[in-house]
Amino acid sequence: MSRPVVLVTGGSRGIGAAVCRLAAARGFDVAIVYRSETAAAEAVAEACRQAGAAALVIAGDMGVQDEIAAAFEAAARLGPVRHVVNNAGITGRAGRLDATDPDVIRETIDVNVTGAILVAREAARRLATRHGGPGGSIVNISSVAAEIGSPGEYVWYAASKGAIDSLTIGLARELAGDGVRVNAVSPGLTETEIHARSTGEPGRAARIAPLIPMGRAGQPDEIAEAVLFLMGEGASYVTGANLKVSGGR
Ligand code: NAP
Repeated sequence: MSRPVVLVTGGSRGIGAAVCRLAAARGFDVAIVYRSETAAAEAVAEACRQAGAAALVIAGDMGVQDEIAAAFEAAARLGPVRHVVNNAGITGRAGRLDATDPDVIRETIDVNVTGAILVAREAARRLATRHGGPGGSIVNISSVAAEIGSPGEYVWYAASKGAIDSLTIGLARELAGDGVRVNAVSPGLTETEIHARSTGEPGRAARIAPLIPMGRAGQPDEIAEAVLFLMGEGASYVTGANLKVSGGR
């Protein structure tokens, strides 16, 4: 029997890479979409193949419509895409809003909001049974930032994730009759390179860990488990849900 195909945006590192590896181990073939880190994406693909999956790496900027469409087109080489994990995201350098360059805000919204909505649109057009698609699911990666607002750090990023929460609710209802479930996972503080590379604070996870009720940052694999649950048959009646994976935060 053929394995279902999942397309993961931002699959080269962090949470996306963990989703790719776990999906491969759980019986999916994997399209790994990334922006710039080819070697990292190739390493994730190799790990997926070791787990018995077919895997493709696809470079593309998920803030740009043509590149989004091209990524879906390329992924179809593995077979019809059944699941999309809408994960690519950035924070922009941390700071107060009144001290932040408008370009940082614009870039964050371009990728996290416009890009994620365009990825969801492309997924809807290809997955929905009304368009002749096979049905399936979309898992949007939000953040607890949408709830806590991230004052002094990146309120524009928190706002971008608020948009993802609304997207999840609306699209879930829009596609409920089209064989496509739409859910979100809202990670709390998770140990990835986003804090060093995007936020600009390498020690951020260690600094904030004591403030988390469970006293630690999450690991990407712990977020991936929630994503795989929402993709799976066990979640067949779950749509429009937003699963917080945040150590109690
Ligand atoms: P990460 O380690 O920095 O990885 C980000 C991934 O996204 C990389 O694969 C990167 O590709 C890709 N990416 C970034 N911009 C892209 C673009 N324009 N087009 C295509 N790919 C792009 O980040 P992470 O911590 O795993 O975060 C993943 C998601 O979880 C994000 O949506 C983030 O907001 C969310 N999240 C993270 C945390 C946390 O504490 N880590 C908490 C809550 C929510 P390249 O490697 O090729 O650049």
